[in-house]
Amino acid sequence: MNHKWSEIVLKKIYEYQTLMFEAERYIWAHPETGFKEWEAHSYLKEKFNHMGFDVTEAGDITGFFFDIDTGKSGPTVAILGELDALILPEHPECNPETGAVHACGHHCQSSSLLGIAGVLSKPDVLAKLCGKIRIMAVPAEELIGLGERVQMKNSGKIKYISGKSEFMRRGHFDGVDIAIMLHSTGGEAPGLGIIGGTSGLVAKRIVFEGSKNVAGARPLNGNNALYAAQTAMSAINALRETFPHEHNVRVQSIIAEGGESVQLMPSEVVIESNVRAYGYDVLKSVNDKVNRAYAGAAVSLGTKVTIEDIEIYMPENNSNNKELADIAYEVGCDMFGKENVRLNLDWGRRSPGATDMGNVGSVIPTIQPHLMSPGCDNHVPEFRVESPEYAVLYHGAVLAAMACVLLENGGERAKKVISGYTPIFSSIKEYCDEMDKIYRLKKAVEYNDDGSATLTWI
Ligand SMILES: [Zn+2]
Ligand SMILES: [Zn+2]
Repeated sequence: MNHKWSEIVLKKIYEYQTLMFEAERYIWAHPETGFKEWEAHSYLKEKFNHMGFDVTEAGDITGFFFDIDTGKSGPTVAILGELDALILPEHPECNPETGAVHACGHHCQSSSLLGIAGVLSKPDVLAKLCGKIRIMAVPAEELIGLGERVQMKNSGKIKYISGKSEFMRRGHFDGVDIAIMLHSTGGEAPGLGIIGGTSGLVAKRIVFEGSKNVAGARPLNGNNALYAAQTAMSAINALRETFPHEHNVRVQSIIAEGGESVQLMPSEVVIESNVRAYGYDVLKSVNDKVNRAYAGAAVSLGTKVTIEDIEIYMPENNSNNKELADIAYEVGCDMFGKENVRLNLDWGRRSPGATDMGNVGSVIPTIQPHLMSPGCDNHVPEFRVESPEYAVLYHGAVLAAMACVLLENGGERAKKVISGYTPIFSSIKEYCDEMDKIYRLKKAVEYNDDGSATLTWI
């Protein structure tokens, strides 16, 4: 049946070629980072309105969605396209003021939604399907500009700093049974890659506070925040041999603020850090050890330390989504030829990258194969869309065909996907409760009057 859908969808989607390619060029020329994607939002909203779709906007943040209803009961499949750019000032076509550029190809995802919605709303297609298709333009996948996002969080505008998490909290995924998307990546021949998943990630900010206004030349009575930070880094490095090898654990840090003047002892030092691991339990336990190192380093130098675990990206585990992976594989083989499709869901075939699609995937079945398209090497100054036909049009065709396969025959395969999947959290509410538990803003060391200190890092 699948090759039939691939053929039908491919034939129909060319009708939307100009619409999609113009959108790709427009969003490429207007790169905006997470939660600021108002130009892309407005452009796409207007195009969808013109096509007759009534979009539900996320409200005071970017992004929107709408449903295409077959009129028959059945599962709801969400098809996602991301809106945000990243910062890469080295890219020759970045916005010269902001350094923003779509070097992760999210503009290909969002512009392909136009063709997907066009094809899937054709009466002859809808007649063969059941359930609903939710088209979603989602903001803020790249974890950048954390300072600004924390400000948005503190002002109450958002609760979670990644777009899909915030969409989940706002109820935009309510009623969705399966979510699918693609991600552009570089590659010689156009094709599809379906791997084991991605890492989980904790985004962190740590502030060491030492003595203020102590002359650098007279350190006797001071507590040096930079040395405390340095001690923490050494402790974390010493912990690395305890990290389970098969989880590809990474702890990456920068000193974002390291002191004001060499004539003053550094009184406040800020570290930004990511902890990554393939498994969620390992991610949490490594993160606890890292936080213990911060607390211990602070007390050894007599400084204070505030640990903020800002956001988590859940690991993607595609072996939990075998049926979805099989559908992507079948569609990919039909469109690109078997020799250009790779399917390997082994644990070791995961990416060290992380995505908030993993957060959606902790509650409902999801998949995000990679669409290999010439020039689309992510996050590098060489990124460019050499073939909009593959990066945008085929992008849309693969997702639309997958939705058709899922929802034909009374949603037979969608039901198989749902029954074969084991969620980490049984509901979005349970997921949000866990996220609230993970989030912490904690003073990890208290100095007591009797000269002792109390450390709490968990
Ligand atoms: Zn990216
Ligand atoms: Zn990306």
